[in-house]
Parts: sequence; C-alpha cells; structure tokens
Amino acid sequence: MDWEKVFATRSSRMKASEIRELLKLLDQPDIISFAGGIPDPALFPAEEFQQAFADTLGGRLCTTALQYSVSEGYAPLRQWIAGQMADLGIPCDIDNILITSGSQQALDYLGKLLLSPGDTALVRWPTYMGALGAFNAYEPQYDRLVANSNRSAKEYRETAAEKNSRIKFAYMSVDFANPTGDTLDRAGRERLLDLAADLDIPVIEDAAYQSLRYDGEAIPPILALDIERNGHIDKTRTLYCGSFSKTLAPGLRVGWVCAAKPVISKLVLMKQAADLHSSTVNQIAIHEVAAKGFDKQVAKISAAYSARRDCMLAALEQHMPEGVSWNRPEGGMFVWLTLPAHLDGAELLAESIKTQRVAFVPGRAFFADGSNGNTLRLSFSQANEATINEGIKRLGLLLKSV
Ligand code: PMP
Repeated sequence: MDWEKVFATRSSRMKASEIRELLKLLDQPDIISFAGGIPDPALFPAEEFQQAFADTLGGRLCTTALQYSVSEGYAPLRQWIAGQMADLGIPCDIDNILITSGSQQALDYLGKLLLSPGDTALVRWPTYMGALGAFNAYEPQYDRLVANSNRSAKEYRETAAEKNSRIKFAYMSVDFANPTGDTLDRAGRERLLDLAADLDIPVIEDAAYQSLRYDGEAIPPILALDIERNGHIDKTRTLYCGSFSKTLAPGLRVGWVCAAKPVISKLVLMKQAADLHSSTVNQIAIHEVAAKGFDKQVAKISAAYSARRDCMLAALEQHMPEGVSWNRPEGGMFVWLTLPAHLDGAELLAESIKTQRVAFVPGRAFFADGSNGNTLRLSFSQANEATINEGIKRLGLLLKSV
C-alpha cells in the first residue's frame, strides 16, 4: 500500500521534527537534560491524587466517574475554574468554560474552528512548537506577530493580501512563554488587543504557565483587559486556554478554554464530534485536588522552580563565554539563550550530547520559518541545583571550545 497516495493533503504538514527525534535519544541516565519542558514528577501532589481517585471510585461518585458525561465538562470543575478566572479579573459563568483534554486539544480545536487552508495565523517568532504542530494540520500560512511594535494592521493586511490570504487569529503564549520565558507587559497586551480589534480577529491567549510566577507584578490576562474594554466576557475576542498540566499533573490531560459563549457552544459541538468529553474520572480527581489545595501546590512548585531558575541564572553568569546572552524569566520553566550568529543550536546539541552529555532544545524548532539557528531553550524545571550547575558548566566548556 502506498500510504502517501491516500493521505489527505493536510497530513503533509504533519512531520516528526528532527529535533524531537534527537530528543528521544535522551533517556540515557548519564545525560543532564535541560530539554523537556515538563514538571518535576517528584513535585506532583501524588498522595492527594491517590486519595482523590480512591474516594471517587470507592464513593458516591463512582458511577458518575465511569459513565459517559457531558461534552462541556464536569460542572463542579468548571465552577471551580470560573472562581479562579474571577480572581484573575475574568468574571464569567460556567457556560463560558469548556474542559479539554489538555490545552493542546484546545489549540487543535481552535485551529480547526478558525483556519481554512491558506489562512494566515499571526504567531510570535519563536512560538510554542506544539501550537505550530496543532495549527499546521489546518494548512495555514504564518506571519510574524511582533509584540509591542508599530507594525500596523494595514501592513499585516497587505502582507496577507500579497499571499492571497486572510488573517484569522493572533496566537501567543503570554506569561513566561514557551520557549523564551518572556512575559508580555500590560502595554503590549493592550497593543495586541488594539491590533486584533483593527484586524477584527480573535486572540488566542495561551496561559499554560500563568500560575507559575516567582517574582515581579502579576499582569492581567489579555482576556481580563478585553473584558475591561468591552464590559462582558460574551463581548470579547480573546480565547483563553488554561491548563492543569504545569501545576497539578500533565498525565491526566485536563485543560480548559474560557471565552465568549458563542465560541464555547461551537467548541462543545466540536468536542462532541471528536471525543465526546474528556475523561470524567480525571476531571473529578483534578477538581478534588484543586479544590482542597491548589494554592498550596502552586506555592510548593514555585519555591522549587524559582530556586532552580536562580541557580541556572547564576551558573550561566559564571560559566558562559562572552557573546552568549540570555533573559531573566519571572516564572515558568525556561531560559532562552542567544549564541554568536555563526553557531547553530542543532549542531551544538549533537556535539553536546556526544562530548558533554548535556541536552537542550535548539531554538530553530520554534520558528515558523526555521530561522534563528543560533538560539536554544534551557528548561530548569527538572534538574536539581547541583545538576543544573554541573550541566551549565559543561555547556560553558563546550561553548568556549567552538
Ligand atoms: N501551551 C504551551 C505554551 C505549552 O508549553 C504546553 C505544554 N508544553 C501546552 C500548551 C500544552 O499543554 P497541555 O496540553 O498539557 O495542557
């Protein structure tokens, strides 16, 4: 069977990235990995989840947990999320919330809902590569979303028109972004809303890391600013994608979209058609654990990750040669390195694994046009402080030798 002949055109953009293939080789125990942007499993609220699953399956919720349920999601969880959203300046009710299987599913659904082949999505350069992967299936083109710039709606429109394309949304990871760790300031968020209003497009606000702020002032979500402008969530253009993956447990695959009701209603139909609903037992367990101790869990992981971030920044200061620069994230899991222009992150990774046994993600994978090879992403969430120091020291040695 020649499978390529029967695959739909949209599948041609679904390719394993060479970097992901390389990263699969990193399971060897002697490798110090700054590659995976994933939580430290030692910090999971494991006992709380054991208790929650035991209580659910051993108690009155057992049949609810094992039965089909509504596509919108488990109502008490949506209610709890609505309370959290209100604390962030986003008053809403549970009909503004759809539970998804991770925020990754939300990105897929929003791509499906908004993109026809050839449409333009505005994304940052660089962008979370999972978002590009989700959108790619819907055959878009990309244009570079420059935050805090003077590039006008007219210029964006002209670029799209040259490609015979229509701009359909702007997507952005706003707090402690994956991959750069950067946060868009309030003025930048307001300008993004201005641009979106001028272009009359939605803004997809990826808030996967929103709870993980270690210092600095919290900035209102774009959706909160949008509500300030328009008076009510149902009049806004912002589609907020939240996740429990970075705070509680990614394996349970529970995230959400918070947005105006007409969009949620459409997404509910999409969810019905795709997978009926997210795992009920997982939603119940997430609700139990979140309701009993979400803030405590966030405080616990924030203390650990902020110490690791500080350690990584101090080690970079000590060990990096001249010509290498990096940012200071106020939260999240990532530091972004820029190397001298002649260096390539992917080549450096191959060399680093061979000679230093240190891994990271080359930055090129995060650029929709494959540019900026001289960048890399380091994650500080998984290694302990001694390992971070050793790994950065080795990376410094390598960079001094190339
Ligand atoms: N958005 C961003 C910016 C991410 O980094 C991730 C996970 N790496 C996701 C969305 C998806 O997370 P999940 O599906 O686990 O909620």
